[in-house]
Amino acid sequence: MTQAPCKVAIVTGASRGIGAAIAARLARDGFTVVINYAGSAAPAEALARKIGDQGGRAIAARADVSDPQAVRGMFDAAEAAFGGVDVLVNNAGIMTLSPIADTEDAVFDRQVAINVKGTFNTLREAARRLRDGGRIINLSSSVVGLLQPGYGVYAATKAAVEAMTSVLAKELRGRAITVNAVAPGPTATDLFLDGKSPELVERLATMAPLERLGQPDDIAASVAFLAGPDGAWINGQTLRANGGII
Ligand code: NAP
Repeated sequence: MTQAPCKVAIVTGASRGIGAAIAARLARDGFTVVINYAGSAAPAEALARKIGDQGGRAIAARADVSDPQAVRGMFDAAEAAFGGVDVLVNNAGIMTLSPIADTEDAVFDRQVAINVKGTFNTLREAARRLRDGGRIINLSSSVVGLLQPGYGVYAATKAAVEAMTSVLAKELRGRAITVNAVAPGPTATDLFLDGKSPELVERLATMAPLERLGQPDDIAASVAFLAGPDGAWINGQTLRANGGII
């Protein structure tokens, strides 16, 4: 009996944090993984080597997701290396918190460029190039439900991600491709921890009834469910993976 070929997954922003945990988990689940990064070449290459050492297949691929040309190049590289792409995980993202009244144009533009345009760039490419039967998982955030002060621009970018998730799920009718979002709550990564006092981290960590921060592996497990066989019937949904914070 011939074995089914390995499914190929691109994970954006996979050099660190949640993306690195997703790439490692998908590799453990048998996916060939493209580890995308913007600047952190060394950790991305190290993760690819580690996956290789453990018997998996992975490459690191530099591309700023806000640049459509770079995103096309990343898909080209994945197709050249592995013959096609089955799964896209749109994880790359940034967060800068400030009240709307105090937010500089550049801060607004950068979050929109990476979180919204970056997600659009990869979704457009995936819609054109993903093999039938594929999966798309976008990273949103539970702040879309919490709507706390200071999160105006960031929450707006993630609301846009959720909107594109639902629309693309319908546009891909007939190709057996699901499109879903995972919306983490506070999760222990640089993005969440940077600039917060231990007291604030503790307060935010205990807001959820499960009374702890999410770990990158918690989020990776949700993404792996949607990318794997058990998630096949879930389409056009946003799954809040947050310990019950909202
Ligand atoms: P993180 O630790 O700051 O890691 C961000 C990753 O995104 C890095 O690998 C970074 O690559 C990459 N990246 C940033 N800008 C990029 C660009 N222009 N092109 C390609 N890659 C880029 O963040 P995280 O906490 O893991 O967050 C991952 C996702 O989860 C984000 O979409 C975030 O909004 C979402 N999220 C996080 C939390 C949380 O509490 N942590 C909660 C809800 C949602 P380099 O290292 O190369 O810069």
